[in-house]
Amino acid sequence: MPQNLLDFDLEGLTAWFTELGEKPFRAKQVFHWIHQSGVADFAQMTDIAKSLREKLQLHAVVQAPAISYAHTSNDGTRKWLFDVGVANGIETVFIPEDDRGTLCVSSQVGCALECTFCSTGRQGFNRNLSVAEIIGQLWVANRSLRGEVNRTASNHGAGEIAERPVSNVVMMGMGEPLANFENVVTALGVMLDDHAYGLSRRRVTVSTSGIVPAMDRLAERCPVALAVSLHAPNDALRDQIVPINRKYPLRELMAACRRYLVHAPRDFITFEYVMLAGVNDQPEHARQLIELTRDVPCKFNLIPFNPFPDSGYEKPRHDTLRAFREILQDAGYVVTTRKTRGDDIDAACGQLAGKVADKSGRVMKRMNQEAA
Ligand code: SAH
Ligand code: SF4
Repeated sequence: MPQNLLDFDLEGLTAWFTELGEKPFRAKQVFHWIHQSGVADFAQMTDIAKSLREKLQLHAVVQAPAISYAHTSNDGTRKWLFDVGVANGIETVFIPEDDRGTLCVSSQVGCALECTFCSTGRQGFNRNLSVAEIIGQLWVANRSLRGEVNRTASNHGAGEIAERPVSNVVMMGMGEPLANFENVVTALGVMLDDHAYGLSRRRVTVSTSGIVPAMDRLAERCPVALAVSLHAPNDALRDQIVPINRKYPLRELMAACRRYLVHAPRDFITFEYVMLAGVNDQPEHARQLIELTRDVPCKFNLIPFNPFPDSGYEKPRHDTLRAFREILQDAGYVVTTRKTRGDDIDAACGQLAGKVADKSGRVMKRMNQEAA
């Protein structure tokens, strides 16, 4: 089996080149071609000796997951569905804004953590994504967003680097990133590496449901911006809707957030809070949140629940949401409410999963029809 070079960070690629009897600087050149120029074909790597190109053709590939569906919505939001094996799909969403382009990346097929309001959680856990499958989402997005697919080696130039359209990455697609720790950390390293995507730590966000020991390890290994999926202001409620809370309850989670901030590139944690009508959206919940997060510098991101079939939940009314937000704001918190984008293509992060899991293929068929 040829080696997929998307599975390596620069250190891994250099070690592999050494095994091939090649110099480290060659690994760096190839790494640039792959990640900065988006080139997969070794024949196009014109400043590499022909003998090495031939060797690579024999032993290696640059292989991102296959795109099974891609679509752009009316507001410019773009979505890809990748085929990662029989009946398995993962989603990646690109959200363009005036001053940035954010890519929402998946880390697992399914998720074992079973949050009750999450369609990925309902689907159960299938498997971890490889490094190539994680970084491959960014590689494909950059490549296709700048019309990279048909480019030839002749227009390779220094100016290209500034053209990479993805400026921010959020690990908020399918899966719990900290439950696929090693692969996610290696992929994050490639995102940050100046020889690859050169994203700033502040512009790469890991979202976790709160796996406390892994938060400490992330602080040590690769401190990027952190979002924590809180969703409830007390243990009784959080035990129910975010079951990992039974293992790592709120007191431990808040302590872990404070420890993380010592290493974090930003001086706050983002708390995500899915608003579920009648469940966690009452004024008393907002007041409990203020009490809970008193000692944790933070911002809140309120996410109106995104409905899916048989979820058993509803999104809150506008006035309920507004009242909740105002209680937090009056207490001095910065609060954002997630805009719903790409609705017409179901592009909200985490929302495609259940549909992909429909093993009958009905949904995929419908999507392909829509795409046609
Ligand atoms: N597993 C990680 C990251 C993926 S989910 C986590 O839980 O943080 C990204 C965000 O989308 C999380 O805050 C998650 O709780 C939220 N989410 C999941 N299902 C949702 C739904 N149906 N409506 C709105 N947000 C949802
Ligand atoms: Fe997993 Fe996150 Fe969904 Fe919970 S919200 S089931 S942790 S993907």
